[in-house]
Amino acid sequence: MDRFIRLLKESKHCVFLSGAGISTLSGIPDFRGNNGIYRKFDADKIFDIDHFHAEPEYFYSHSKDFIYNVDERNPNIIHYVLSRLEQLGLVRSVITQNIDLLHQKAGSRNVIEIHGSPKENTCLSCGKIFSYDHVAKIVREDQIPKCDECGGLVKPNITFFGEMLDQKAIMKAVDESSYADLFVVIGSSLVVHPAATLPFYSIRNKGKLVIVNNMPTPLDEHAVLRYKDLGMFFEYLDSYFRDTK
Ligand code: NAD
Repeated sequence: MDRFIRLLKESKHCVFLSGAGISTLSGIPDFRGNNGIYRKFDADKIFDIDHFHAEPEYFYSHSKDFIYNVDERNPNIIHYVLSRLEQLGLVRSVITQNIDLLHQKAGSRNVIEIHGSPKENTCLSCGKIFSYDHVAKIVREDQIPKCDECGGLVKPNITFFGEMLDQKAIMKAVDESSYADLFVVIGSSLVVHPAATLPFYSIRNKGKLVIVNNMPTPLDEHAVLRYKDLGMFFEYLDSYFRDTK
């Protein structure tokens, strides 16, 4: 860990990219990990935009205990340490693929959500916006959220497979990655694009890549440091920086 601490202290623009693996410590299953939801049901189908239009009840019945209960989940040591490192000026931003709002709940300010979040939900017919609380209440009662003005189908502002990413968010993520002299990937299988491409913007500008993940990733050969256990990695950072002012 000494080598990582040295890189972090020397870095002028450190960026983290987080994936679903970090929120397993908060009780939210990831996709492709050992207890990931891919082992239980077809996550590609749940988040497929064509399938959502054809059978919205499939999405809502499966996401009920996965997305529409994130308000009951709490940030874990990873989210809190990242927020602290941002306060200390050691981390510039967190780019996240997660849709669980836990980085913000832990106090991180510069969070770029490249896959959106269920904080807002949009009527696909008239564009009316609905809050998380409004939609979560309906979904928990096993109903499909419909617009109270026009009856249209309501969809969370999460990017589904087959949809364009939010261009503002992805451009900001590309900018941050390009500036990063230290780029740290945590809890991501690095198979979802374009998230998996972001480390290359840093590497291309001589940035150093560090990966913390307990399964191999396609980018491992590009990493200068590689760690497996997220819990141990962040416990070390927590104890190291706890008393730093
Ligand atoms: P992924 O499921 O593909 O990969 C997560 C990785 O984290 C896996 O390789 C797993 O082995 C690893 N991991 C899990 N626990 C770990 C631990 N304690 N220590 C070290 N490694 C650990 O997730 P992804 O790459 O983020 O892609 C999945 C997509 O699904 C994303 O687009 C994301 O939007 C969405 N998703 C989000 C959430 C969430 O918001 N919490 C949850 C599931 C899926």
